[in-house]
Amino acid sequence: MERVTSHPASQGLFDRARQVSPGGVNSPVRAFRAVGGTPIFMRSGSGAWLTDVDGNRYVDLVGSWGPMLLGHAHPEVLAAVAEAVGRGTSFGTPSEPEVLLAEEIVGRTPVESVRLVSSGTEATMSAIRLARGFTGRDKIVKFAGCYHGHVDALLAEAGSGVVTLGLPETPGVPAHVTADTIVLPYNDRAAVEAAFEQYGDQIACLITEAAAGNMGVVPPEPGFNRFLAETCRKHGALFISDEVMTGFRVTRSGHWGLDGEPEGWRPDLLTFGKVMGGGFPAAAFGGRRDVMEQLAPVGPVYQAGTLSGNPIATTAGLTTLRLADTEAYARLDDASAQLQRLVAEALDAAGVTYALQSAGNMFSVFWGVDKPVTDFAGAQAQEAWRYRPFFHAMLDAGVYLPPSAYECWFVSAAHDSEALSRIAEALPAAARAAAQATPE
Ligand code: PLP
Repeated sequence: MERVTSHPASQGLFDRARQVSPGGVNSPVRAFRAVGGTPIFMRSGSGAWLTDVDGNRYVDLVGSWGPMLLGHAHPEVLAAVAEAVGRGTSFGTPSEPEVLLAEEIVGRTPVESVRLVSSGTEATMSAIRLARGFTGRDKIVKFAGCYHGHVDALLAEAGSGVVTLGLPETPGVPAHVTADTIVLPYNDRAAVEAAFEQYGDQIACLITEAAAGNMGVVPPEPGFNRFLAETCRKHGALFISDEVMTGFRVTRSGHWGLDGEPEGWRPDLLTFGKVMGGGFPAAAFGGRRDVMEQLAPVGPVYQAGTLSGNPIATTAGLTTLRLADTEAYARLDDASAQLQRLVAEALDAAGVTYALQSAGNMFSVFWGVDKPVTDFAGAQAQEAWRYRPFFHAMLDAGVYLPPSAYECWFVSAAHDSEALSRIAEALPAAARAAAQATPE
């Protein structure tokens, strides 16, 4: 097996980066703090593969944290982007690609009207402002372990990098900013009912990940999302389904299509990001027309962006979505199912206790737990320290996994038999390393 153990160029860049950027990175989990070692600086990607600055090749299971649904450097996406770049990169006026992308989103999802922004954080932040403006109420409800970007009011018991770094909350967010944020255990209907019983007439919205993917993958229990939507409706609050991670990934629309019997209910607002930007900064929030029309310039709720609807980002996103047809989703689902089977076989053979959890084609492994994880407390009870040697064994064997036990593993439609074989070769030794791990 090809071994990848030498990273002098990555080390050199990381040393320089730390001189000029905090921690040498522009987003915390990239710094490898949770797994140790030097972050790998990537130079290029093609299909399921990444090549680092030292020339090492890896099968990529991060996919830029979700956007790369079709794999890296898809020729048709590159050609569309090159063509768009040739016409100019930003006009600050309306342009055709943003209309086409908005039409594509409205056509694939339950939203009637959509506003484009540049990041998932911006999407959730704006959706919450809109919900507060629409209802005239201040309180918001979220679930522990659900991450919705680094929106001040939502950085209470969030998942993702906040879990990895073990920060209960972050300095810099004044107490009054989270005073109106009610945090509940995920999948806990009784807690939701109690919160609405007490504060129902003050709650503007409840926001949830359509399927939690930022504390590891914790799917909603059957009917949970619908129950949330109905509870919100009963109390005059809006239900916001955050599909930044799941949108256009787990089905051609997102998790709403997987929620079972989608007829008869839909979220009031949804947020999207990642896949819909095709690797560029594009995100969106949308939903009921009467709610969306509270936004400026039609209504009074202000929201804006210099680069919103950027022609390059929207071209990349539109091309990606157009290429994401039934056949692409079938390939992706199949690759994910095969990979889950390979992981389970290797962990079983090594005698590791684990829970492998999925929501559609998204999945992750919880280490050292012997029952399904249904909430954040369960996720935090895992033996995350088993992941560190597993991660490094996989990396040394040419497989690039998320550098934290609390992240989802992202497969693409480009993960073919060659990519899966590389992973299959790497897994047994990595599983043994996880089995033999000891807490630090
Ligand atoms: N919402 C969810 C569910 C996410 O997973 C993320 C990012 O991981 C965000 C929002 C924030 O998106 P961004 O990183 O583009 O700001």
